[in-house]
Amino acid sequence: MSLTSIAQSSADVPRLAGSLNGGLELKANILIVDDRPDKLLALDAILSGLGQNLVKARSGKEALRLILQQDFAVILLDVSMPGMDGFETASLIRQRPSSEHIPIIFVTSIGNTEIQIRQGYSLGAVDYMLTPIVPEVLRAKVAVFVELHHKSELIKKQAEQLRLIEETRHRQQLAEVADRLEIETRRNRFFTLALDMLGIADLNGRLMQVNPAWQKVLGYSEEELKSFSGMDIVHPEDHENLLLGLKALREGNAIGPFEGRFRHKDGSYRWLGGTAVPFLEEKLIYIFVRDVTRRKEAEEQVVRLNHQLEQQVAALTVANHELEAFNYSIAHDLRTPLRSMSGFARALVEDESAALGPLGLEYATRISRSAKYMDNLLLDLLAYSRLARAEIEPVRIDLDPQIAELLSLVEREIRERNVEVQVQTPLGSVLAHPATLKQIVSNLIGNSLKFTAPGRTPRLHIFTTRSKGMVRLWVEDNGIGIAPEFHEKIFGLFHRLHDSQAYPGTGIGLALVRKGAERMGGRAGVESEPGAGSRFWVELPLSEASPPS
Ligand code: ADP
Repeated sequence: MSLTSIAQSSADVPRLAGSLNGGLELKANILIVDDRPDKLLALDAILSGLGQNLVKARSGKEALRLILQQDFAVILLDVSMPGMDGFETASLIRQRPSSEHIPIIFVTSIGNTEIQIRQGYSLGAVDYMLTPIVPEVLRAKVAVFVELHHKSELIKKQAEQLRLIEETRHRQQLAEVADRLEIETRRNRFFTLALDMLGIADLNGRLMQVNPAWQKVLGYSEEELKSFSGMDIVHPEDHENLLLGLKALREGNAIGPFEGRFRHKDGSYRWLGGTAVPFLEEKLIYIFVRDVTRRKEAEEQVVRLNHQLEQQVAALTVANHELEAFNYSIAHDLRTPLRSMSGFARALVEDESAALGPLGLEYATRISRSAKYMDNLLLDLLAYSRLARAEIEPVRIDLDPQIAELLSLVEREIRERNVEVQVQTPLGSVLAHPATLKQIVSNLIGNSLKFTAPGRTPRLHIFTTRSKGMVRLWVEDNGIGIAPEFHEKIFGLFHRLHDSQAYPGTGIGLALVRKGAERMGGRAGVESEPGAGSRFWVELPLSEASPPS
């Protein structure tokens, strides 16, 4: 149906005209082109009822200029105009892309030929109206185009809105995709950059996704790793454990921390340690492991070294026992010739002094003295060897009577040298070997009385302290004291800090103290400062029946 026929019936006019302004607020532009003002006026009068915007042009040129400036719903074009006629104007209108679709209605007088009318149509006219014009018909025709214009504007607007909606949705989708991509990228980066081995496997332990750390640790390419399960490369000795682990995972239990050996591409094994968590809905296992080979090797090394150390200690103990036995027999055997040396020297001094003369007597006396010193030394050595070899059976010993007895043995010396003695009772009870304890304490008391500071009243203080099931017996003096660098050395055999002229002795006493304490499950030590006295201690296991302090 042609547009002309749509609006041909005058009954359609009110409906079309009525709907023009109702649907849209904007008015459509209608261009009327005629060189004659009276005709322009007449057309204006006919069309003003449509309520649209009527724009008038007096020539084709002016019309073209107006078309450039604004959009028109329809153009009413007079055919016969001076200068540029209607056809020429129409042809130029059609040549411009912005105006090529604007409907053109030619308005001309009845005298025009059929040929002219056809020319008009060929130039793109949508209608051809001959004067005199029937106003209703013209109005109806123009109304159709105005309506069309409005509709196409509406469609354009809706299309624009649709486009905007579409664009917004598209932009949203793009943003969502970008967000997802960003999260994915970050997760991927996390996965890729992790130094730990992160992997996803199926419930049979077959790897489905691995990060680059796997390749670094095990040497296989990603494809190779994905082609086998953990069971294929696990060390035969760890096979059983891995099976149990997989079983637990299939039952929905996380496993770890676990450790196992897995074969590297070069055939060697790497220790991997970590955890694995199942996700049964996805039938997946998430694995987090790291290469712990170096730690495991270090641990194995420690175990190996410990074993070696134990063996060496055992060998040393045997050697020590042998040495102690040797020591004992030497010390024991040396005493026999020594006794005869000492006996003959004494006989010389006592019976032959006249024949010897003063120098000879002096020499014989020195031999006798040295023999005595050597005998003391051998006796101490024998005591030390005996202590090292003796069967030690600790019993409960109440320290108070023990200390009182030992002090009574040196009572005379204490009295003569005016020693201030203070014993802080009750001292408590310890688990110890009676003879050994006596030997230790009498050595410590003896040293306190021996290494006194000149010009100072000697003081001896005996007390105990307790900690963590042990009793510490302290023997404190205000004697000459010991420099810190010797605090350990003096507990070694034959370590003496003074010559035997100033302080006689063999250098075995404190070695005996330490050995004895250790043999009874305790320790021995000293706190001292030169000139400020010494505080020796022996730590022994507390006897349960000790009275509370
Ligand atoms: P000895 O007493 O036979 O010399 P010890 O083994 O008992 O041997 O002591 C080793 C050294 O420790 C002593 O020579 C002395 O130098 C130092 N010493 C031991 N006890 C004391 C003390 N109470 N005060 C100062 N020095 C001491």
